[in-house]
Amino acid sequence: MAVVLGPVLLGSFFVGMTVATVSQDRTVERLDHAATTVRTAVGAMCRQLQAAADAVAVLPEEARRPAADQLVTRGLASEIRIGPEGSADQRDCAAPAAGGSVTAIVARARQGEITVSAAQRLDAGFVNRLAASSGAEVTLLAGDSPGAGPALSSETDRVSRRVAAALPGSMTRRGHHHVRGIPAEPGQPLPLAVSVPSSDPMSLYAFLLGGVVIVACGAIVVARRLARSTTRPLEELVWAVGKVADGELGTRVPVGRDDELGKLAGTFNRMTRELQSYVQALTASRDQLRGHLAILGDTLSSTHDLHRILQVILQTALSATGARAGIVLLLDPVDGRLVARCAEGLTGRWDVPEADLPALRMTPGAGVLGAVAATGEPRRGSFGPGAGALDEPACRTYVAVPICAPATVGDPLVPGDALVSGQPATLGVLALYDRLGGDEFDDADLLTLRTFAGQAGVAVHNVRVHEEAQRLSLTDPLTGLWNYRYLRESLRREVERASRFGRMLTVLVLDLDHFKAVNDTYGHAAGDTVLGEFARRIRIGLREVDVAFRQGGEEFVVLLPETDAYGGVIVAERLGAAVRDIPVPIDPRRQDSVTGLPLDRVSISVSIGIAVYPEHGTTAQQVLDAADDALYAAKNAGRDTYRLAESVPLPATGVTETAVSAGVPEGQFDQTAGPDVSSGGPQPPRQGRGR
Ligand code: GH3
Ligand code: MG
Ligand code: MG
Repeated sequence: MAVVLGPVLLGSFFVGMTVATVSQDRTVERLDHAATTVRTAVGAMCRQLQAAADAVAVLPEEARRPAADQLVTRGLASEIRIGPEGSADQRDCAAPAAGGSVTAIVARARQGEITVSAAQRLDAGFVNRLAASSGAEVTLLAGDSPGAGPALSSETDRVSRRVAAALPGSMTRRGHHHVRGIPAEPGQPLPLAVSVPSSDPMSLYAFLLGGVVIVACGAIVVARRLARSTTRPLEELVWAVGKVADGELGTRVPVGRDDELGKLAGTFNRMTRELQSYVQALTASRDQLRGHLAILGDTLSSTHDLHRILQVILQTALSATGARAGIVLLLDPVDGRLVARCAEGLTGRWDVPEADLPALRMTPGAGVLGAVAATGEPRRGSFGPGAGALDEPACRTYVAVPICAPATVGDPLVPGDALVSGQPATLGVLALYDRLGGDEFDDADLLTLRTFAGQAGVAVHNVRVHEEAQRLSLTDPLTGLWNYRYLRESLRREVERASRFGRMLTVLVLDLDHFKAVNDTYGHAAGDTVLGEFARRIRIGLREVDVAFRQGGEEFVVLLPETDAYGGVIVAERLGAAVRDIPVPIDPRRQDSVTGLPLDRVSISVSIGIAVYPEHGTTAQQVLDAADDALYAAKNAGRDTYRLAESVPLPATGVTETAVSAGVPEGQFDQTAGPDVSSGGPQPPRQGRGR
């Protein structure tokens, strides 16, 4: 409005000013013209009267009157006097007197004593003629008789007359008229005022005002349209920005224009679209990661299956970093080499079935993975085309971090030197390859991977601690053999396996003879020593697949997988001899000074019961019970011998065999020859030979 109306109002003002000035000039011009005309007219009248008076005066006396009358008749004067001076209210053209009323103008001529006065009465007609000839209103100021001038009764004319009298010759404005006074002077004896109506250009002003009003209305309309077309898109933008700020990224603004506002709206829409898809991608990857982390948490808390844990950790790390492939390698405590434990997406010689992964081994120090394992320092980088370590997975970019155990003082699984150096022990390496998009892995990826490697380290450590704890809970601390708990589990498993594969399984139950006497004679500690030595002799007398257990007290069990009764008898013979042959030294510090042999040695012997699956029982318990019965028989037979259990009745045939009893001929360990297995007879010796 200001922009549009300002120049219009200013222009109108200047136009008005100019018009007013021009109009004033024109009024002044008209007044000047009127004044000049009035003066000239009055001057002409005076000259005409003077001529008439002169003409009468120069005539002989008798001709004067007739000539004067003729001149009056002809209208050259309204009255011609011959003789005395005229009346006082007549104004003399040659020497006008000031003040008083005036009814006529007069011109005088003297001829000797005679004065001829030619006068012209000032009536309304005279003034009107002056007004008509000058084009202005004419007012006679020197009298206010009804016949002396027109329209002198009005307030305006009185004021005009006063002003004109006060300032003869000046121009002033009164009301709607401009007035100028014409002072009396020789040749023009009348004090007059001419006035012209002010030529105020009211219509022009009205026209200008109308123009301004029209322009203002137009400006209002235009301003409204401009406001609607400019501010509405801006308001929509402001609204949309507020919505986006509140998190509603789906907000869009209409783009219906081709100007800057339209471009702004288009750019805003593009920006929010990009933002929305970016946020959606972020949310999706966060959800995916959350899912993986949930699986990871579940896995870590629910299982001690190390392979499964490592697999989930690797998959989560791949998902979190967007890598194509990855691998987890753990250090083998036996040979100190890195062994692949699980892998995803690898190619070439590393693309092997899961079962073959342990065959993929690397030496610490060699290549990127070996260097990470050897130094415990993470690495990331890229290989150019054709470059890269030969025996490592092929890739363009890689990141590899060590898997470290949480170092805990007193932890038997953490090497002592790791605690001394303050560095956590390296358990393996977690490596990812070929980040999607082709970029190198960055520090953020490295950090993420270290987090997962930390999880893996804790998991590996936990699993190993768990394994160790389980081993401890299943072994007997005095002898180092498996305990009764593990015996039950192993026996059940072995019976199941033997049943599945149609194999045999032999169980030996061993009990030291008169062991109470050892305790009583040499003390409990000596008894423990004997038990330990007995267990050692059992262990070294067995194959690798055989397993020995301490069932409790001085009772032991040996499982011989895939072994029949012959094999069992051979083992029983061998163990009996191993115990019997060499007395057990109970105090190694006390030695004979001559022979160097221990002084306190205890001779012991063992009785053994033998039972075979499925011959003597179809369940673990049945076989164990049968072996116990056979042991009982061996004890009854005088000890230091073995007995084979009696066969149970076969369900199909109902055939039974003779039960072992204390009455059977005594078996005794044959120290010179084992049972005659070479004969190939179907029945092994049922009893050891007595001493
Ligand atoms: P036999 O078997 O020949 O009939 O006679 P035994 O003396 O061996 O018989 P028994 O089973 O009655 O005695 C077992 C003894 O073993 C009783 C107990 O003092 C001893 N013993 C059991 N466990 C331990 C142990 O852990 N350490 C020691 N030192 N002795 C034990
Ligand atoms: Mg016993
Ligand atoms: Mg005993």
